[in-house]
Amino acid sequence: MLPRKDRFEIPDGVIYLDGNSLGPLPKGAAVRAGDVVAQEWGNELIRAWNTADWISLPKRVGDRIGRLIGAPEGSIVTGDTLSIKVYQALAAALKMRPERRVVLSDNGNFPTDLYMAQGLMGTIDKGHELRTPAPEAVLDSIGEDVAVVMLTQVDYRSGRMHDIAAITKAAHAAGAVMIWDLAHSAGAVPVDMAASNAEFAVGCTYKYLNGGPGAPAFIYARPDVIENVDPAMAGWMGHEAPFAMELGYRPAMSAERLRVGTPPVVQLSIVDAALDVWDGVDMADLRAASIDLSELFIAEVESRCPQLTLASPRDPQLRGSQVSFAFAHGYAAMQALIDRGVIGDFRAPDIMRFGLAPLYLDRNDVLAAVETIAEVIDNELWADPRYQRMSRVT
Ligand SMILES: *Cc1c(COP(=O)(O)O)cnc(C)c1O
Repeated sequence: MLPRKDRFEIPDGVIYLDGNSLGPLPKGAAVRAGDVVAQEWGNELIRAWNTADWISLPKRVGDRIGRLIGAPEGSIVTGDTLSIKVYQALAAALKMRPERRVVLSDNGNFPTDLYMAQGLMGTIDKGHELRTPAPEAVLDSIGEDVAVVMLTQVDYRSGRMHDIAAITKAAHAAGAVMIWDLAHSAGAVPVDMAASNAEFAVGCTYKYLNGGPGAPAFIYARPDVIENVDPAMAGWMGHEAPFAMELGYRPAMSAERLRVGTPPVVQLSIVDAALDVWDGVDMADLRAASIDLSELFIAEVESRCPQLTLASPRDPQLRGSQVSFAFAHGYAAMQALIDRGVIGDFRAPDIMRFGLAPLYLDRNDVLAAVETIAEVIDNELWADPRYQRMSRVT
């Protein structure tokens, strides 16, 4: 049943509409982190790698994420940051198409994905080209010269959603390898990685999976391609036998070859605890609740605040679990909202972003949030000089 507010520590007086950027603290996560530090680390010391099975955390947590995105057991590992996982997936994918030189993404992709691609192509130095057409033009841009199609399913700014099945099919028809970034999908919309047949997927755990700031990322490789993955980051934890301490690298014969170095045990344990919240959640129910909240939010904001312009697709089927509005004074207005306990965020140049996560939000929260938004807009409360100063993180 949704929501599950009692499973989260959300401060009184806060309506949290930013779970698309940093999910709230799940109950149990702090206790778990404390136990890992005090008991496992404190008492067990180095023995805990075995006694608490720290060494297999990247796979154990990966398997739990797999259940939320339709990936089979053993096909996902966690660790590092999403930027690193993008690099690993793209490097592996490019090696699978050595005769081709084009990476196709889109101009709505999250900048770090594009930056990592640019950096990797520079390192390879074989004349690869990154193409970034408009999202709507991606399907028509998949030509026979494309080595890899690398896309983020849900646009971080607008919430616009790509069709995983259709694009993956087109990529494969053209002979390209497919990589999906599920940063704003995992825990937000139903995803079936196995059915999509895409070779790779990556994503983060600190957004809708509520794993905490800096929580490690995940990477999926389709089981039948893993043995063709040539790891660009050949770290010892991805070796077939790390403690054999061999001089030469031999990749593990599983997705574990996409591990790099020592896993972040405390943070991964928090992700593990955070995933308990999902036990028994049906992703179809979650999606229905997300659409219900988003539709209510859009209708209320549009009727109360005509100054705000919807910057997300109007069709809920084409939207993830966030709603964005454009407003010229969006940054200051968001600061005024945050000051009043309605927490969303801002993305340049003028986007006010609101995440609608049904795990801890209900219709009353949406109505109360819109009440505050209307108060800020109607009374031009955003004009207060306090709200004009840009922080480093928006
Ligand atoms: C949030 C997000 C990232 C963040 O990458 P980090 O390495 O975790 O900082 C990358 N890509 C996409 C598409 C995102 O939404």
